[in-house]
Amino acid sequence: MNIKLTELEHRKGEPLPFQLTLDATELKNRHDEIRGISPVEAKGEAVQLGNLYYVKGDLKADVDFVCARCLTPFTHHAKVAFSETFAPEDDPILQEDEDSDILPLEGDEIELDALLQEDFLLAMPTFPLCEEDCKGLCPSCGVNRNEVACSCKNERIDPRLAGLADLFKDSNK
Ligand SMILES: [Zn+2]
Ligand SMILES: [Zn+2]
Repeated sequence: MNIKLTELEHRKGEPLPFQLTLDATELKNRHDEIRGISPVEAKGEAVQLGNLYYVKGDLKADVDFVCARCLTPFTHHAKVAFSETFAPEDDPILQEDEDSDILPLEGDEIELDALLQEDFLLAMPTFPLCEEDCKGLCPSCGVNRNEVACSCKNERIDPRLAGLADLFKDSNK
């Protein structure tokens, strides 16, 4: 879905509401951790104020992940807020402040799909966790330590010191 700039101009500062559904299959294919995904519903509004165009709203979807620590599948009810500002490509404001978040606008339309897909993907975790403090699997016996407390002693050994630990083990024999 695209928004025509002339349409925003005609509204003279009155926001234009929009609603669209993003292509879930494409999103899934573009992110390694997404195992499944419901249709992504976007709701928001666009407005022109002076030389600038603003687009804001949120994206909602149920996303299936596999926990990176305990390997349990879980569904995340994602709600991603987006807020973007555009200026016409040749607007001096884009040169004045190179660090600004203002995006250059090519052509006479705002292309929502590509923009919102990026916003959604950027908000997805690259290291999904079922719970922020997921205890993960026991490295010795493999149980899910969120469910079972095993009695293995898993001392956290700094890999750089692992060789040293072996040395101590040998000397205790
Ligand atoms: Zn987990
Ligand atoms: Zn264990």
